[in-house]
Amino acid sequence: MVKTALVCGAGGFIGGHLVKRLKTEGFWVRGVDLKFHEYCESEADDFVVGDLRDPSFVRSIVDRRFDEVYQLAADMGGAGYIFTGENDADVMHNSATINLNVLDAVTKRSIRRIFYSSSACMYPAHNQLDPDNPNCREDSAYPAAPDSEYGWEKLFSERLYLAYKRNYGIEPRIARFHNIFGPEGTWDGGKEKAPAAISRKVAAADDVDEIEIWGDGLQTRSFLYIDECVEGVIRLTRSDFEGPVNIGSDEMVTINGLVAMVADIAGKRIAIRHVPGPQGVRGRNSDNELIRRRLGWAPSQRLRAGLEPTYRWIEQQVRGNRKVAA
Ligand code: NAD
Repeated sequence: MVKTALVCGAGGFIGGHLVKRLKTEGFWVRGVDLKFHEYCESEADDFVVGDLRDPSFVRSIVDRRFDEVYQLAADMGGAGYIFTGENDADVMHNSATINLNVLDAVTKRSIRRIFYSSSACMYPAHNQLDPDNPNCREDSAYPAAPDSEYGWEKLFSERLYLAYKRNYGIEPRIARFHNIFGPEGTWDGGKEKAPAAISRKVAAADDVDEIEIWGDGLQTRSFLYIDECVEGVIRLTRSDFEGPVNIGSDEMVTINGLVAMVADIAGKRIAIRHVPGPQGVRGRNSDNELIRRRLGWAPSQRLRAGLEPTYRWIEQQVRGNRKVAA
């Protein structure tokens, strides 16, 4: 029997890559999103455009007992979208409504196994003040104190999935992603994240040039390449471990260091102008002890290896846009 999967958020960055991976494994895949994928033709067997905030639409797409359900749809973006405060009500309302609707529909269809993408943004801000030594162990989540409403919604939804387990027998698999990046992700328009924004600025710069960075650039993060993210999602979903568990890289860099790496890949001499802007927490790194212990696997690829194809892809997009502009 051909296995079936439902991917909510299939028109987005991670969902798009996950559909490709499931197709290589022979799954019949239904993708659902508000929009078609911006950068590639979806490989889903059935791609349904619709709004997961609408409960009757959600019931209509959960019309069979899928073997695997992946819930990645969310109203999200980089620091310029989730840390300014301007989108807080939408972020909380839209993402919570999607999770409420999807859980209700899968429960009514007696589907058990469902993957949910939470975020490292749910960790307490006070554990991430030291850029050299942030604490993102899974058990540091409580007492809760995320620094954004996006993080609070993720925490609420984690609890929602666990409550459905307790009361309705759902088998959630919950991952806390730490900054996923790669080709075919948002790279402009205000919702892009640091690796894509920096790659775009460097690609658009002259050989010797200056680019703007929000803050002093000493804030730290780790970045996980998309292929390892998808690998972690699949392994977690098919394991007997429900999480929540970090899926992230533990190679921490400063934002200034990230710029230097991208500039080196591009072969350009780039200076940094530090300007005020939303930054999020001071330091963040994935703690991979739990994933290693429970799944016998953890991401291991070096940051630079993923940045090279990402930069090349964004460079092509920037060039393509210039042609359109010309
Ligand atoms: P993305 O924005 O590219 O994908 C999310 C998709 O959800 C989008 O295509 C969007 O159109 C869709 N969506 C939003 N509202 C919808 C609605 N009402 N109905 C139907 N579709 C809707 O983001 P992504 O980077 O692929 O992230 C996927 C998931 O992983 C999200 O839940 C996100 O919060 C989580 N996450 C991502 C990262 C990261 O670094 N990319 C980090 C932490 C957590």
